[in-house]
Order: sequence, then C-alpha cells, then structure tokens
Amino acid sequence: MFQKPTPEELKRLAAAGGGIPGVPWQVTLKATPEDRIKLRAEAEQRRRQDELDAAATLAKAQRVGAMTKHHPRWDEFCDRLEGPDGVNPQLGPRTSPDGTVSEGWSWTCAGGHDKSLASKILIAMGFTNEQVAVSLAYFESEGGLCDCEILFNVAE
Ligand SMILES: [Zn+2]
Repeated sequence: MFQKPTPEELKRLAAAGGGIPGVPWQVTLKATPEDRIKLRAEAEQRRRQDELDAAATLAKAQRVGAMTKHHPRWDEFCDRLEGPDGVNPQLGPRTSPDGTVSEGWSWTCAGGHDKSLASKILIAMGFTNEQVAVSLAYFESEGGLCDCEILFNVAE
C-alpha cells in the first residue's frame, strides 16, 4: 500500500538528494549516500531487465508467429475482440449490483488473468495452442492481463 510522505519526510528526502525512481520513498529516506548509489544502480538494472524481458517476449512471439501488435492480422484480431464474440464494449443503460440503472460503458470480461475470449478468437483465427499461449504471454507483458485489458492497454 502506498503511503504519502509527511511534509517533514519530504524535506528530509529532498535534503538527501530526492527520490529514486522505482524505489519506495521509505527505503530511500533510510538510505546512506552509499546506499543511494547502490539503490540507483539496482533500480536502473531492474528497468533494463524489464526492457530486455519485454523485448525477449516480443521476439519469441514473432518467432513462433504469435499475435502481436506487429502481426499482419492484428487489426482483424482487435476487431473481433471488440465485437460480439469478444469484449463487446457498449454505451447504454447498465444495471449495478444494487439494481440502479445508469448510462455508461459495459463490456464482457471475467477480469483477473482471464483471457478466454482472446484465446477463443485466436483459435478461431487458426492459431495453434503454442501460438495462443505465447500470444497471451505477450499480451501480459504489454499490460493486458484480462480480455478487456488487451483491448484497452495493448491495443490502446
Ligand atoms: Zn478485463
């Protein structure tokens, strides 16, 4: 859980050289100047590793012919995921669990890590089980953990 630093803690942080991107301020605040150098290097290392991991995931996806933003059938996949067999976002009256009806967006998605709609669409498009599995791993690396997030985060 993120906790906001108090004004006093913010002052101490600034005096110590400010925050370090990717490091919790609580850790940064307790760090000695030597620790700060190490923390900065470690955060930079993690950022580079994340970039490498994402690049490796994309490279593997492209090698096995999995679905990615660079696949020739990406637009077709997005159209289907946006359609009635997919997430199908609709603007209109929606009913809350308490029974109140309001105007807004609603769509189909099981949430969590559920990508069953995307899987079904990829299978229907002729992708193999391996290509589907690698596609889903690629979607996750791009922030698409569930079906609607593939549409909202990966497709943008
Ligand atoms: Zn979702």
